Amino acid sequence: MSEKWLVTGGAGFIGGNFVLRQVLKNNRKIINLDKLSYAGNLDTLAALADHPDHRFIHGDINDSQLLSQLLEEEQPDAVVHFAAESHVDRSIEGPQVFIETNVMGTFQMLQQSLRYYQQLSAEKQKSFRFLHVSTDEVYGSLGETGAFSETTPYAPNSPYSASKAGSDHLVRAYHHTFGLPVLTTNCSNNYGPYQFPEKLIPLMIEKALAGEPLPVYGDGKNVRDWLFVEDHCRAIETVIACGKPGEVYNVGGNEERQNIEIVHTLCDILDELRPLDHSRRDLITYVKDRPGHDRRYAIDASKLANELNWQPTETFSSGIRKTIQWYLDNQTWTDRVKDGSYQGQRLGSDNTG
Ligand code: NAD
Repeated sequence: MSEKWLVTGGAGFIGGNFVLRQVLKNNRKIINLDKLSYAGNLDTLAALADHPDHRFIHGDINDSQLLSQLLEEEQPDAVVHFAAESHVDRSIEGPQVFIETNVMGTFQMLQQSLRYYQQLSAEKQKSFRFLHVSTDEVYGSLGETGAFSETTPYAPNSPYSASKAGSDHLVRAYHHTFGLPVLTTNCSNNYGPYQFPEKLIPLMIEKALAGEPLPVYGDGKNVRDWLFVEDHCRAIETVIACGKPGEVYNVGGNEERQNIEIVHTLCDILDELRPLDHSRRDLITYVKDRPGHDRRYAIDASKLANELNWQPTETFSSGIRKTIQWYLDNQTWTDRVKDGSYQGQRLGSDNTG
């Protein structure tokens, strides 16, 4: 019988890619719980509208009654927890919802998953997993050298990373105190299809296509590691299948880049594919830096490589071309985000499909 997983945040960027992959490629049954915040987009899941292996539930991870009912009814083999507020700039403008969703919501997920786990048979308990998706931003900022490992002390600097750090600690505690078989993955910046166009890469693609100014924070020299979203999804599958309960795994693409290099690459590829009468690099404008902007992140993903045999398959140069091509081929997806019509979309009349 195929496995059934409860996924939270599966209408978002990474969760959406993950759900599509599980249902269409891996033949898993997915129960997809998502609040449909501004970042949740059912257009992403259009290919699953009538799929018998996908059930969409429009709901909040803070709704303990809904969670307990869903777990009881669906009896999933694993919980994969993506749901979060994820944008650093928004966490600076309005941190409260970050605490409510990322800290309190994760607490509810843990609490209800533990109650469910405790009622499972010994046999089912052996294979049940709760996988928490987190970020490398919990480790703070690096100097010119070095990389975050799983033992790097936490030093979050933004309300977003602090709320994710809080959730990571709760996940850890539910293993150590109650024996819930949790796994945590901390990964670097993802890019790929279906990313909300407020994040660096889709934002720059859209602006560059429209010939608008390309706003780059500070001196543009902040460094991030970039991971193609499909590689991240594969890493999560690997950790669920082979990871040791209670352990943390860093996930990275081994592709460090300065923000300005990313923008240059996007400009150059778009100039090649959709030429203008001038270079798109002329559109770059430097803007006031984000407060508390971390200078450099880098990930040491050797634990995942050595212990679980996972490696990224995409290089940045191959992944970024695929990503740009996807945005060129799927302009309607972005147009519907920009004009707000994506929020009117519902899968099925009772929000299940
Ligand atoms: P996203 O913002 O695109 O999607 C988040 C999803 O969660 C949305 O569909 C939203 O509707 C849903 N959601 C928000 N609050 C909810 C609630 N209270 N109840 C139910 N659903 C809710 O985020 P993403 O970029 O796909 O990130 C997914 C996860 O991966 C997050 O936990 C994030 O912290 C983590 N992460 C992301 C990146 C990245 O580069 N995008 C990097 C590292 C870690």
